[in-house]
Amino acid sequence: MSPALSATDLGRLAGLDRAVRAVRALASGRSTAQSVLIYGGPATGKTTLARWLAAAWLCTGAERPCGSCPACRALASGGNPDFLLLEPKGAGGLIRLAAICPTTPPDEAYPLALRDFFRLSPLVSSCKVAVIEQAERLSPDAANALLKMLEEPQPSQRVILTAREIGWVLPTVVSRCVGVACEARRPSDDAVDALFGPFAQPERRASHEELFAQLAEWVARLPSRHPSEALVASDELQDFAERLQKAEGLNPRQARAEVLRMAAEGLRRRDGYDPQAVEAFAEAHRRVLGNVQAGLAFDSLMARVLSRLGRAAHGRPAGNSG
Ligand SMILES: [Zn+2]
Repeated sequence: MSPALSATDLGRLAGLDRAVRAVRALASGRSTAQSVLIYGGPATGKTTLARWLAAAWLCTGAERPCGSCPACRALASGGNPDFLLLEPKGAGGLIRLAAICPTTPPDEAYPLALRDFFRLSPLVSSCKVAVIEQAERLSPDAANALLKMLEEPQPSQRVILTAREIGWVLPTVVSRCVGVACEARRPSDDAVDALFGPFAQPERRASHEELFAQLAEWVARLPSRHPSEALVASDELQDFAERLQKAEGLNPRQARAEVLRMAAEGLRRRDGYDPQAVEAFAEAHRRVLGNVQAGLAFDSLMARVLSRLGRAAHGRPAGNSG
């Protein structure tokens, strides 16, 4: 951990708007997520995001991370006892079992195992945060030991994993985590056409090209998202509405309704779409127009949609990643 991490400026992560929003939502008081997996290729910003989220969770100030509270200062000097960094060590380049739970004989590379770290109460912060970098390098026994801890987390436990490829991490570990993708990928024009045909008129599209592309990607990614990401997804969708509101001079209610309509249309045009998920968007659209508090309508919509789609994708009911 670099000493400057508590002051890390997320604004520097150009092109990662969605990942930055997701991490900010996770840092907010609304999220109850305890396990997060941030993944993306080399130099995509995942380490910066992981460090920022760790700092935000550990901070005891008002604007988290504040950089000036005792927890932030301890973190910056490398002495926050509520923070643990685990990474591959030694010739094999693996994160060995001893990193997760104590072994006999002890492993000098990992003087404090993750399990023992979480057994102690937080000292300066309100929670304890472990960052596990290069989680794809966890040895099989270490990954299985970690899985047990993710399945039954201590109340103050927060784990942030980073990995280059989500497919290289044990799937059962992935399924316990809220995933944050650090990839500035863009769908092709064809993908936007396919999703938003009637809504993407040429003149409208020319002025909101980025918005359309990002919303198309958001819709395309919905079926692979875990139910525990519902609040994050709700924030993201509301953010699209705010941007549309500014771009087209709509009022907030019109903009929210329009984004719901576009997302429903995009979902409906995908192969093998789920009619009930589309209906959930249509119902939220009616509720928003009917003056139901929009945040509630979006939150309950995403909880409903992700638990439906998630059941199909993850093969089990709405899980709780903590
Ligand atoms: Zn602070």
